[in-house]
Amino acid sequence: MNKYRVSFAMLATAMGLGIVYLVVVARASAAKDSQLPKIVYVDFETEEVFLLSARSTPADRPDTGEPTLIPGMYCEKCQAWKPVGSIEKLRNRGSVRNCPIHKTPLSREGPLPKDLQQ
Ligand SMILES: [Zn+2]
Repeated sequence: MNKYRVSFAMLATAMGLGIVYLVVVARASAAKDSQLPKIVYVDFETEEVFLLSARSTPADRPDTGEPTLIPGMYCEKCQAWKPVGSIEKLRNRGSVRNCPIHKTPLSREGPLPKDLQQ
């Protein structure tokens, strides 16, 4: 009986350590997330603009949780942010950096909507 109690205590300790470990890891990854550079994401359905940490694409919309956000670049002629596809596509295919309307190069820099300015 005593033996069982000991092993139960060990199990409880191990579970406790596991929970502590999970909390520490969760905190660490949250801190890491806030250190990621913010990039402009555009909702490819509504063309709404978001400023979020650069992560996988498509990214989840903070308000709906739907994965409809893809990185955007700015067209000076449209004066609007255009969804341009995944970060990988940005690197690999130069043509997707052009505005679909103007066929002019898009910029990574551009004015943010007022509610996103910090
Ligand atoms: Zn344009």
